[in-house]
Amino acid sequence: MDKLSNPQVTIETIKKYDFAFQKKFGQNFLIDSHVLDKIIASAGVTKEDVVLEIGPGFGTMTQYLAEAAKEVIAVEIDKALIPILQETLKDYDNITLINEDILKVDIAALVEEKNAGKPIKVVANLPYYITTPIIMGLFEKHVPLCSITVMVQKEVAGRMQAGPGSKEYGALSLAVQFYAEPYIVANVPPNCFIPRPSVGSAVIRLTKWEKPPVQVKDEALLFALIRASFNQRRKTLQNSVVNGGIGVTKEQVVSALEQMELSPTIRGEALTLAQFAQLSDILS
Ligand code: SAM
Repeated sequence: MDKLSNPQVTIETIKKYDFAFQKKFGQNFLIDSHVLDKIIASAGVTKEDVVLEIGPGFGTMTQYLAEAAKEVIAVEIDKALIPILQETLKDYDNITLINEDILKVDIAALVEEKNAGKPIKVVANLPYYITTPIIMGLFEKHVPLCSITVMVQKEVAGRMQAGPGSKEYGALSLAVQFYAEPYIVANVPPNCFIPRPSVGSAVIRLTKWEKPPVQVKDEALLFALIRASFNQRRKTLQNSVVNGGIGVTKEQVVSALEQMELSPTIRGEALTLAQFAQLSDILS
């Protein structure tokens, strides 16, 4: 049987099962073999790897992953896709299919069971409506992983990779870059999917740092400061932090900024991750 990356095979599968795409699950299936090759290559998947795929859909990417990896764990929320996946993936014996909401899965326990707690790779064409909770969940829950290579909305990829001073720079950039090094692999136009999404897409690889680029005394305070600073983007960092409800007084911020030799009117968007870390340590 031809692979699902052949658009004709995907169209036949839709007809055969009378499959109705669910917008609420962010279902846009890939139908471009070049994009799939690029994702697998940039994720660096080898026969040593256990890979977690979030949202296999019809199993288009799962077929590529099963050929490249030692083992694939595929988690799909849509019950209607399970019988289809059982058919499209029947030639592979290295896939575990789980019908569950990824946000409810204990992924660390799954990695313990499937890979003796050793780091896995995450590769997926993500459901865009939950991109941030999926990625931040993987990092914050300290799931053992080497990298996350995912298709996301183009603007979101831009925000993850942005640095200080750019319009896209914000809390997501800093949160992602605290845990990993981002690299945008490719932009992907809507015609590479069925149905076509209304937004542009991009593949981004997040390579987890072996050693974090900054170390802080209080991680929770660092993230609270970052969130507060970008909640009121147009205000000065001083005002945003004081009004951020995190128990920091004006005098404390003024004195910290002075110690860091930064202007009292500086905005959050001008600070690097290292400067946020320094601010956090002074205030902690
Ligand atoms: N991997 C397939 C492909 O590339 O053709 C499908 C990708 S599609 C953008 C996203 C997939 O994630 C869909 O199959 C959708 O049903 C699934 N999904 C949506 N929300 C999910 C959730 N909370 N947990 C697991 N899977 C989810």
